[in-house]
This record gives sequence, structure tokens and C-alpha cells, in this order.
Amino acid sequence: MSEKERSEALQEAGRVMTICNSCRYCEGFCAVFPAMELRRTFTDGDLKYLSNLCHNCRDCYYACQFAPPHEYNLNFPQAMANLRGETYREFVWPGFLAPLFKRNGLTIFLATLFSVLGVYLFARMKENGVENILGTWTGDGSFYTIIPEHELLISFSIVALWALIAFIGGIWKFWKTINPTNEKFFSGSGNKGALMDVLRLKYLEGGSYGCNYPDEKFSMSRRYMHHLIFYGFFSCLASTTIAAVMDHVLGMPAPYSWYSLPVILGTLGGTAIIIGLIGMIYLKTNQDQRPLAAEGMVMDYGFIILLLLVNITGLALLFVRDTPLMGSLLILHLGVVFAFFLTLPCGKFVHAIYRYVALVRHNQEQANRK
Ligand code: SF4
Ligand code: SF4
Repeated sequence: MSEKERSEALQEAGRVMTICNSCRYCEGFCAVFPAMELRRTFTDGDLKYLSNLCHNCRDCYYACQFAPPHEYNLNFPQAMANLRGETYREFVWPGFLAPLFKRNGLTIFLATLFSVLGVYLFARMKENGVENILGTWTGDGSFYTIIPEHELLISFSIVALWALIAFIGGIWKFWKTINPTNEKFFSGSGNKGALMDVLRLKYLEGGSYGCNYPDEKFSMSRRYMHHLIFYGFFSCLASTTIAAVMDHVLGMPAPYSWYSLPVILGTLGGTAIIIGLIGMIYLKTNQDQRPLAAEGMVMDYGFIILLLLVNITGLALLFVRDTPLMGSLLILHLGVVFAFFLTLPCGKFVHAIYRYVALVRHNQEQANRK
């Protein structure tokens, strides 16, 4: 591909990477610089890989003597973010979903609207649908009065499977592009190293003082908010898994008591996620705009708001489950959860997927180097 045919984001990423590779001042900040230093020139695949290895801590922006207003106009985090955005569209599977990244706010809005509407109409179509939705139902299996258990199970298994298959397709395309040596994804200690990096959120501690986020000061806030969201998510996942076992294996249908394991884990996890997401909104709205890649902001906020809705409606359901509001809130909650899974492969969540894959590659490369 000639230079003219390459996108602006690729050209800019190549330009800044070449300057940084002769400077290397930032090599202690994150995984990007040690990976960069293994190369003298950068293929498009290298640049796409490195852009997904970056997690936008901005340490390199404030440390850089060539950052604007210097004539080199070197804005490394912005160049990486712009290229990252392009890779989301390139690697999405199936490929025809690519335009949804450009109209992500609208996509999430419409998906949520139609999902909630779909669940409502589905519940209404049942025998005595309206009475069921507006009634007061308590005791074992009361949620299934609104939507029958097996229909709930089938529809959510299908949408979860959709997200999983789309992610596998995306990972496959991304891995082929960033791995010209054809090393296997599961070979060596790549996954083990990447998993450790992710579980510790290692790179969010920057050079051990945290990120330069939301502004020039070093701060651990972004790391702590990510921890709350990350571990909150696993707590909710554990809650759902235990509830599924209790329901389908032990024959103890939901809802469960306040002191049961699924409710305790779900409440803790949901609360942690809500605090983390509100913290992220605060940080984002107060961030220094100079290293920002504006295009990704709608996608960020769309994902945050949808995840907030999932958790707020889930927690609220706990409080109204013995009242006539239960039916309506359950429909709202199921609708936003459905929209969440539906839009996972074409929204901000793909950052977590590609970043993990890039960390696998990084750990393989570092191991091969020894
Ligand atoms: S961002 Fe600036 S200071 Fe850091 S390695 Fe690149 S050129 Fe050097
Ligand atoms: S913004 Fe942070 S993660 Fe990205 S390249 Fe710069 S120092 Fe590394």
C-alpha cells in the first residue's frame, strides 16, 4: 500500500512512533515503548498492535518535549487513540457492523429502545400479560410470571452467544494482522502474562505513581475506578452463575433473600460498578482536552451509560420486587441487559478484548526476547 493510500491515522501513528523510537525517554511508562523498541521500522500491523497496547494514561504526553506547541506536534496518546478507533472498525466481525462504531450513540440508543420495547411486547403477549406486569408477585419464581423461564433462558443465551462469536471473529482478524510470525495465540506464556497484567491492572499504575489523568498531576483515581468496575463485574458474574446453579440445578428459583450469596455478591458488585462508572464520568468530564481523541468520546459515554442503566435497574429491582413495580422494572432491566449484550461487539467493550490480545502478543515477544 502506498503512503497516499494509508489512512491519516496510520500515517500519523507511523510518524510519531519513528520519532519516539529515536528518543525512548518514555520507555518505563507502559508496555508500548518496550514493544516499540523491538522494531526499527513499523508495518501497519505493528502500528495497529501498538495502538491497542496503549491504554491512554497520557504519561507520555506530559513528559514529552516535542508535544504541542513544539513544531513536531507530537501527541502520542491522541495518535494511538485515533488509530485504535480505526482498528475497531477494521476488525469487527461481521465486517458490515463497522459503521455502527461511527454512529455509536445512536446505535446504543436504538438498541436499548427496541430491546426494552421488545421485552415489553413479549411480556404483554402472554396470557393475562398486562395483569401480570402490573400485579404484585412474591415468592419462588415470581419473575417468571412476567417472562417464562425457558424463554428467558433461550433469548439471553442466544444474545450472549452472538457476542461471544463476534468477539472470536474479531480476535481472529486482529491476531492475524499483528502476528506476522504466525505464533499461536495460546503458545508460550503469553496468556498467563496477559492475564496477570489484566488482573492487576498493572499498566494503570503508570511508572508507579498512576496516570496523568484527568490532568497533568499523577493520580491513581483512574486505576481505582477501573478496579471497582472490573472486580464489580466479576462479583456480578459470580452472582449470576451461582443464581443459575441454584435455579436450574438445585431447583431453587429466584428471587433470593437479601442474605443469600447471589444477592450479596450482586449488590456489592453492582454498587462497585456504579461508583466506578460515576467516577469515570467525573474524570472524563474534567479531563484535559489536549491529548483527547474526540471521536471516541460518544462511544465511551454510550458504553458507560448503558452499563450504568444495567446496574441501576438491577439494584432497583431488588428494592421493588415485592411491589406492583416489579413487572415494569424487570422488563426495563431485561431490555437494557439484552441491549448491552447485543451492542457489546460494536462498542467500547472491544477495547478490553483487543487490549488483552495485544498484551498476549507483548508477553510472547518479551519472552522470546530472553
Ligand atoms: S513521547 Fe516524546 S518524550 Fe516520550 S519517547 Fe516519544 S518523543 Fe520521547
Ligand atoms: S498514553 Fe500511556 S499507555 Fe499510551 S503510549 Fe503513552 S504512556 Fe503508554
